[in-house]
Amino acid sequence: MRAVAFERPGSVAIVDRPEPELLASDDAVVRIEAAGICGSDLHIYRGRVPTQPGFTLGHEYVGTVVAAGDAVSRVRVGDRVLGTFMAVCGACGACRRGEFSLCGGIRLFGLGPLGGCLQGTQAELALVPHANLTLRRVPPGLPDATALLAGDVMATGYHAVLAAGLVAGETCAVVGAGAVGLCAVMCAHLAGAAAVFAIDSVEPRLEIARSLGAVAVHHGEHDCRRAVGAHTSGRGADVAIEAVGSPDALRTACRVVRKGGTVSIVGVHAEPAAVAMDDVFIRGLRIVAGLANVVAHVDRVLALMAAGRLQAGPLAADEVPLAQAPEAYARFDRRETAKILLRP
Ligand code: NAD
Ligand code: ZN
Repeated sequence: MRAVAFERPGSVAIVDRPEPELLASDDAVVRIEAAGICGSDLHIYRGRVPTQPGFTLGHEYVGTVVAAGDAVSRVRVGDRVLGTFMAVCGACGACRRGEFSLCGGIRLFGLGPLGGCLQGTQAELALVPHANLTLRRVPPGLPDATALLAGDVMATGYHAVLAAGLVAGETCAVVGAGAVGLCAVMCAHLAGAAAVFAIDSVEPRLEIARSLGAVAVHHGEHDCRRAVGAHTSGRGADVAIEAVGSPDALRTACRVVRKGGTVSIVGVHAEPAAVAMDDVFIRGLRIVAGLANVVAHVDRVLALMAAGRLQAGPLAADEVPLAQAPEAYARFDRRETAKILLRP
């Protein structure tokens, strides 16, 4: 089968690899019909998060179950499914507490050795461990481009807002208007935010944020703290979401949040990042961070999507054949589009 593999920083290739086979009784094999390219894939593409050359990338996916082990009971062969970007054991202490993203045996698709060597989903077929927890049936009528967001970027935006403890009537600043940030904008509105600010420097992405009702702040052109302050009586936002994963974005998030506010970090930090701890201390900020607990959120996110209350439309994914993955990665890296779907 064909798959998209990491070659070296700045380069992916279409490779031929053996078709996956069931290894455990709760595994499934999914024939991939659409696979997303995500900001997390860019960390690997840019060489910031190391992986093994030849490893299959990707962790956003929709497809059809073509094989399932005896212990798979929640989905069947022939079901149209989407999956979460992580596979978790369901049995350890963290999983029993419902904190699946802290699972002791967590594996992340398409990351390589750091993610437990689970081959990615930008391929014709993918092996899906612990399928009862990892896969969900796609609700009838939900298109691929919508459904595949539920297992990753939309569930992460949902997590960012939930982890921040945003209360209806509060304000929320989202740093980074990529797919995750834009999904966080939608989720913050749904949670009742009185105002949402989207901070980025890519104008087309800020334009999408505006179309979602956010106040757009260009971080190269504006003093973000002042811009957010202008709409919050000088106080700053009650909640700031860091949806980039860079020291600069983290600093911005800490600067735009009010005294006693919460900074919710979902951007992936792959190296130490300094925060002005004196400022965090004096201003009594609360900082929460980590992988999104997507296994816990995916059913609610799907319900909101099926009800039309969370929509993928604004992200308007570009769709290209899998064979065009090398050019698609290059375009995504240049931020020419907010989401790309590969069609095997
Ligand atoms: P993306 O690369 O498409 O978007 C990132 C956006 O941030 C871009 O629009 C970019 O212009 C903007 N940006 C860069 N530096 C900035 C700065 N200093 N200030 C403001 N904006 C800045 O990525 P994405 O798909 O939206 O993902 C966002 C982050 O979330 C990535 O780090 C990704 O790995 C991470 N992520 C985390 C989880 C999780 O479980 N925590 C899940 C999915 C994605
Ligand atoms: Zn992702």
